[in-house]
Amino acid sequence: MKFDINEIRGLFPVLHQEVHGKPLIYFDNAATTQKPKAVLDALMNYYEHDNSNIHRGAHALADRATQYYENTREAVREFINAKESAEIIFTKGTTESINLVAQTFGRKFIGQGDEIIISTMEHHSNIVPWQMLCEEKGAILKVIPIHDNGELDYAEFEKLLSQKTKLVSIVHASNALGTINPVKQIIEAAHAVGAKVLLDGAQSSSHLEIDVQALDCDFLALSAHKIYGPTGLGVLYGKRKVLEAMPPFLGGGEMIKEVTFEKTTYNDIPFKFEAGTPNIADVIAFKEALDFIKGLGKPVIKAHEDELLAYSNELLKDVKGFIPVGTAADKVSVLSFNINGMHPFDVGQMLDARGIAVRTGHHCTQPLMKRFGIEGTVRASFSVYNTKSEIEQLAEGVARIAKIKN
Ligand code: PLP
Repeated sequence: MKFDINEIRGLFPVLHQEVHGKPLIYFDNAATTQKPKAVLDALMNYYEHDNSNIHRGAHALADRATQYYENTREAVREFINAKESAEIIFTKGTTESINLVAQTFGRKFIGQGDEIIISTMEHHSNIVPWQMLCEEKGAILKVIPIHDNGELDYAEFEKLLSQKTKLVSIVHASNALGTINPVKQIIEAAHAVGAKVLLDGAQSSSHLEIDVQALDCDFLALSAHKIYGPTGLGVLYGKRKVLEAMPPFLGGGEMIKEVTFEKTTYNDIPFKFEAGTPNIADVIAFKEALDFIKGLGKPVIKAHEDELLAYSNELLKDVKGFIPVGTAADKVSVLSFNINGMHPFDVGQMLDARGIAVRTGHHCTQPLMKRFGIEGTVRASFSVYNTKSEIEQLAEGVARIAKIKN
């Protein structure tokens, strides 16, 4: 598929509506992206034609549903270049993927006095599961500081690393700032002290090419809904050896080989971590989202989004009262800002009145907001279907709003 913005927009039904009498401009993509019609059709198609439980059925519908479900697993494998599809576990989302690692890997391999390293720019879902684990185990949570421009303080990270470090769990690209972290370097350094590395790929997965083998990360977590797929679905990638050494997460059907009242033996990966009837319809539909991305290619998507980000910076940089938050050199298409003298929520409401959907607040990164001494930001996050004309309307809206107090 060649890059034709009108053609791309035509694939997303939700974009073609008015909000408060104005054409919708959807800039809340870091929260969740919109879904191409192929994803919606696949959901409907599954329920109309193939609805059945998977893996155990002895009939045609069950076989079809199982085949489609496993096809998506293979598509995810390809999407992140995992070695084998058994290393792909379906979860509810990034949050559940991280909790799974904390509750299984963490509980088994992290103990009293061991250290876990995260960074100042983590989403709450990459903070709280580790705090819970540390509380239970007497382990210690260490936090990498950041510079004023929102880049990681790499020198400080190196100082935090030691033989006590058992895990580094770090966001690949920040949802609140857009900062892309030097994860390859981080993984190498962590491995050198024997620590495992989990990448929070919730944001990076929609913008950046991810090759888990080249990166050599031990875990990667992502959410389907942030990459044009359905909600309530995510992925945990783990290296086979690491996953095999971990105890199961939830107990129930599917994750077992044999159950007796005396002893249960567990299934092989990935099924060991997929207890109960999974989110079959959404998994099947997710493949359409991955096919959409594959059709365009991540570098093409990223180039378009980079252009939009650069254009927004250019149009807004001289607006009086405009305060960007997070100006790292290497960013995904997240424009976080404040307007001098105004509450982010009020700015968001005024933009909404213009049909422009942004997110305001702490973006589930309260410690990061505290680091900057602010309550929150206004966040406009750009996706493949956004246009330069929409950026112009955002800039015009922000300039008018800023004038109220500046
Ligand atoms: N990590 C990051 C960087 C995110 O942006 C998000 C969602 O905003 C999450 C984790 C949590 O994702 P989910 O709510 O889909 O589990």
